[in-house]
Amino acid sequence: MTNQQIHLVSRPRGAASLENFALVEAPVPALGDGQVLVRHHYLSLDPYMRGRMDDAKSYAPPQPLNAVMLGGTVGEVVASRHVAYAAGDMVVGSGGWQQFSIVDAGKPGVLRKVDATHVPLQAYLGVVGMPGVTAWYGLTQICKPTPGKTIIVSAASGAVGGVVGQLARARGCRAVGIAGGADKCSYVLNELDFDACVDYKAHKDPKSLYAALKEATPDGVESSFENVGGPVMDAVMARMDAFGRVAACGMISGYDGEPIPMKDPMRIVKSRLTIVGFIVSEHMEFWPEALKELGARVTAGTLKYRESVAQGLEKAPEAFLGLLKGRNFGKQIVKLV
Ligand code: NDP
Repeated sequence: MTNQQIHLVSRPRGAASLENFALVEAPVPALGDGQVLVRHHYLSLDPYMRGRMDDAKSYAPPQPLNAVMLGGTVGEVVASRHVAYAAGDMVVGSGGWQQFSIVDAGKPGVLRKVDATHVPLQAYLGVVGMPGVTAWYGLTQICKPTPGKTIIVSAASGAVGGVVGQLARARGCRAVGIAGGADKCSYVLNELDFDACVDYKAHKDPKSLYAALKEATPDGVESSFENVGGPVMDAVMARMDAFGRVAACGMISGYDGEPIPMKDPMRIVKSRLTIVGFIVSEHMEFWPEALKELGARVTAGTLKYRESVAQGLEKAPEAFLGLLKGRNFGKQIVKLV
């Protein structure tokens, strides 16, 4: 049996490009004891993958060259030599950008059975998966919002941001999003039910962006869920209340080139801010509680989400580069089956 895979074949200098990837065919090896063969139905594309393409110091080792791109997957067990899994089981794991993966199913945390009857299978890569838990963790453990107070969420229409705002609203907070373009802002406001949304692309000048944010946050800002960095973060920082809290989740505006400076770090002192960076996979003890709330809300229809679906493995690199440029609208996945 042949397995199509996408390999990283070179490291980007500045922005990533299609030349960094190659479509490769390899045979599917025979199953060993304790292993299962998974046929991937969907791949997850996530901003963190860009950081791993660089050979640089980070919280995780770099993605190796000439190897399958790493990443989250959902799919079906098609053959099993592990007692806990049988053909037909639906599973979430980290199979990477390929059609099939062979998994040592006994290793802790590598594979988890999921029930796709109430929640669609691919949602385990998004709203009831890693991005959803990221939103839940940053909100409840770092932002710790007070009912009635305002939280700002950047990349608000995305996989993480959309969940943050809805969970904050469910806790009685005022959620203000920042997103790129009128369509995304309208979705954040009207479908995700945020209280306000600022289109940062309509405010290229920092003063104009600050003024729009000020208008949207007349009572100040208790906490910020930061996904973007750069000028967007600069404007948010200038709106923070004294003793405000910032969940530093990501800085996607700087992923495709040089790191971006912060304009006025003295704000941290002036506003006595607490800024906490976090990596969701280092807080596995919170996942069960988070997934319980996320699953219950999705099933009840009170947590909405949207997906951008690329069709076919060969489209993964292009869809990934699009994600880094904001061409996705909601969770970016690739459909294989
Ligand atoms: P999204 O679904 O939000 O997609 C990324 C979005 O980022 C784009 O759609 C785009 O939205 C926005 N964006 C891209 N470039 C820029 C830019 N230059 N300036 C402003 N916005 C930009 O992705 P995720 O929800 O998966 O991830 C959101 C953030 O969360 C990322 O920073 C990611 O690294 C981080 N993350 C962190 C985790 C952790 O453990 N710390 C775990 C998971 C995610 P728009 O069109 O609105 O600009």
